[in-house]
Amino acid sequence: MVYAIISDIHSNLEALSAVLERIDSIGVDEILCLGDIVGYNSNPNECIRIFRERAIRSVAGNHDVRAAGIKEPYDFNEIAREALFWTRKALTEENLSYLKALPERLYLKNGKGVAVHGALTDSTDTYILSPWIALRNFEEILSSPDLPPVCFFGHTHVKVTYQYTKGKVLTLFKDEIDLNPEDLYLINPGSVGQPRDRNPDASFLVYDTESGRVTFYRVPYDIDLCYRKIVEAGLPIELAERLKIGW
Ligand code: ZN
Repeated sequence: MVYAIISDIHSNLEALSAVLERIDSIGVDEILCLGDIVGYNSNPNECIRIFRERAIRSVAGNHDVRAAGIKEPYDFNEIAREALFWTRKALTEENLSYLKALPERLYLKNGKGVAVHGALTDSTDTYILSPWIALRNFEEILSSPDLPPVCFFGHTHVKVTYQYTKGKVLTLFKDEIDLNPEDLYLINPGSVGQPRDRNPDASFLVYDTESGRVTFYRVPYDIDLCYRKIVEAGLPIELAERLKIGW
């Protein structure tokens, strides 16, 4: 199986369309999403429509569960909260139900991997931002016989690979990684709709389960159009500005 793994779309239709076009040109068996289809940008319904039309499977992100009303955004900063309430109002009933039904975890076929939004220790809200937090998640895999050795996570909007090898955690930033079947991995494809690694291009990865190769991709998209739509929607201008610098 060849999977494309995408994450953190955040209602950015231009970025999602550009990424799907690239994925289609590569040719994969399935596209999986690590959550946060909505939040921040101006096209939540349009992005969910694409997910539904293409039957893209996704886990629930922290913005998805809050937009769906399962949780309240008490812990969000002011800008994220404003965008969240805007999103709730914009979503159709049908799309609210779609978000409510998203699962916390998805499994790849044949034990080749598991997908979560935040972390294995707390699916939607914990950020894996350091090797120490990664280690706690590797311990979760080691103590759970039903968990596969490869976990894909999103939420931080920063592409990275943590490798657990011989009791140590390594942090890798390479764009091409051949997974060692002896080791454990936590892999983040970066964000489609709001990258935060100072590179404004949309980010995703492709995972070939036969060869064990993971390849990261960056795709430029029409940021100016996305910017204008955020302004026209009356969303906070900071959400448009950050797209230009990838932060
Ligand atoms: Zn996110």
